[in-house]
Amino acid sequence: MAHVLKYKDDHIKHFGKLTNDEEEAFDLHQGLFRIQTTPYYAALSDSSNPEDPIRQMLMPHKKELQNLGQQMKDPLGEERHSINERLIHRYPDRVLFLVTDMCSVYCRYCTRKRFTGKLSAFVRTSPYEKSLEYIRNNKGIREVILSGGDPLTLSTSRLEKVLQDLREIPHIEIIRIGTRMPVVCPMRVDEELVQMMKKYHPIFVMTHFNHPQELSLEAAEALTLLVNNGFPVMNQMVLLNGVNNHEALVQSLSRRLLSLRVKPYYMFHCDPSEGTEHFQTSIQNSLKIQRELWGRLSGLALPSLSLDIPGGGGKVGLTPQFELERSDSHSRFKGWDGFEASYINPFPEDVIDPFLSEEYLNEWERLKNQSYGNQNAADLGARHQNL
Ligand code: SF4
Repeated sequence: MAHVLKYKDDHIKHFGKLTNDEEEAFDLHQGLFRIQTTPYYAALSDSSNPEDPIRQMLMPHKKELQNLGQQMKDPLGEERHSINERLIHRYPDRVLFLVTDMCSVYCRYCTRKRFTGKLSAFVRTSPYEKSLEYIRNNKGIREVILSGGDPLTLSTSRLEKVLQDLREIPHIEIIRIGTRMPVVCPMRVDEELVQMMKKYHPIFVMTHFNHPQELSLEAAEALTLLVNNGFPVMNQMVLLNGVNNHEALVQSLSRRLLSLRVKPYYMFHCDPSEGTEHFQTSIQNSLKIQRELWGRLSGLALPSLSLDIPGGGGKVGLTPQFELERSDSHSRFKGWDGFEASYINPFPEDVIDPFLSEEYLNEWERLKNQSYGNQNAADLGARHQNL
């Protein structure tokens, strides 16, 4: 990470010339989200084109300082679901563990700007131990999502300690690692790292490719190494205005990822984090993209369009409307290519429950009754609406 681009001069050296808006952002940078990129990632952009998608994701712009529209410090409401400064328990069966606040590239649209890039780095001993204790004491937690920041900015030995500690907790079934390293510094994913990580399977790796231009040969090699070593790899993209919000780009990225055995998992609507208004698309725009892809793109390649309810309401799926009408007896649909037909419901009394053994019922009851961070989410949401 010694050669990262941080300052105006570094960027001028790499890109040759900055636009007036970019220059101004550097000059007025107080209050701006941290600036840093890897030379590798910068080299994926066309340095002569100010509209290049990668340049837009890494280069500060004066628009970030125009705090217009819906702009929130904590759009996911993570603070009120926090157990401590590094552990967030928003959903019953999983927690988000912020093991570092560092990234190798600070994406201009980042949703966690309130936390990321403050250079506090690895979690301090006290919140780390307290987080482990909380996870240990809450047997309903089945999954830990390592995030930040980017967990792969940690040294391999430091990351191993985290994985080891989590694997000593018997009820943790799945570990997820959310990382942008395969995109911005694919060389980090090397033999040594994957050999260490595979000792702690099952581990899912959640990548964050947003544009087909990011899928270089090096990135493809990193993904192949992960998949060949048994890591399911899923991609979470964010729809960004003027960067990737077109069905042609989403299909191209998704098909290429799928052929590398990476599942295009989510297509997120951009969160209203501070300084990101110019990156946000409309719901209509996102739904149009999803509708265009529906049916034309294999279900395996189609990411689910999803939005986080601003303020911490959790994820909701956005699906194009195919149902024309619904009654007790039937629903009428119009499919993606215009074919119309009805689905006739059976009589209500003919819809019965399947046989359920105690095992499945008890497991379900435990999940339903599992407590999590802040259970007054609905009340807080109502209050939030009135703000
Ligand atoms: S890698 Fe993730 S956490 Fe880091 S700046 Fe980019 S979006 Fe934010």
